[in-house]
Amino acid sequence: MRYAILGDIHANLTALETVLRALEPMGVDQILSVGDLVGYGPSPKETIERVREAGILSVRGNHDEACSGRMEPLFFSDSARRVAEWTRGELSDAEKCWLADLPLTLDLEGCSLAHATYDYPREFRRVTTLRDARATLERIPSRVCFVGHTHVPVAILQREAGSHELTYSVSSDLDLSATHRALINPGSVGQPRDEDPRAAFGIFDVERSRYQLHRVPYDIAQEAERVRRAGIPSFLAERLELGV
Ligand code: ZN
Repeated sequence: MRYAILGDIHANLTALETVLRALEPMGVDQILSVGDLVGYGPSPKETIERVREAGILSVRGNHDEACSGRMEPLFFSDSARRVAEWTRGELSDAEKCWLADLPLTLDLEGCSLAHATYDYPREFRRVTTLRDARATLERIPSRVCFVGHTHVPVAILQREAGSHELTYSVSSDLDLSATHRALINPGSVGQPRDEDPRAAFGIFDVERSRYQLHRVPYDIAQEAERVRRAGIPSFLAERLELGV
């Protein structure tokens, strides 16, 4: 089984289309998403349509909850809240129901998915330290859990069962055959925040225990223009150009 893992697409249709084109020759069996399909970006309807058309399996992110009306964006920044409200006005009731009904976690052959952490998935806790990853690594039924939320590509590895020692890896080519468990963030398709503005995605080959991170440039000027035309805060176009 060969998966592609897409993180935090955030209604950036230009980046999503570019990533899907890049995947075509890669021989992927299934495309996965770790949530936040919408929010921040100007093309929520088209993004949902494209995700469904491509048969992408997705979990639900905090922005998917806010944009579908499943929760109020109380802890969102001002611009994120404004776009969540704008997105609610753009989406049909059927689209909002579809988003609201996405699962919080998924257990698949060879890996699990959650938006933020696998333990307490509804709380959308940020994984910023090794310690934040520990409960997820203890609870997942498979060896690898893919998560999003921070928009920063990184892997946290537990080499041996029962070991409290965890390590970070920012390698773009990981051999996981000698790793007991791994929590991996494939970065963000639609709003990278690691100062590399290219769209990010991961490829996981279950049989070969190999994970690779890919980056593809996309037409940021076109996407920035879509942001400005939609009338959502123009700061969201500028951050795409900077990758923050
Ligand atoms: Zn996000």
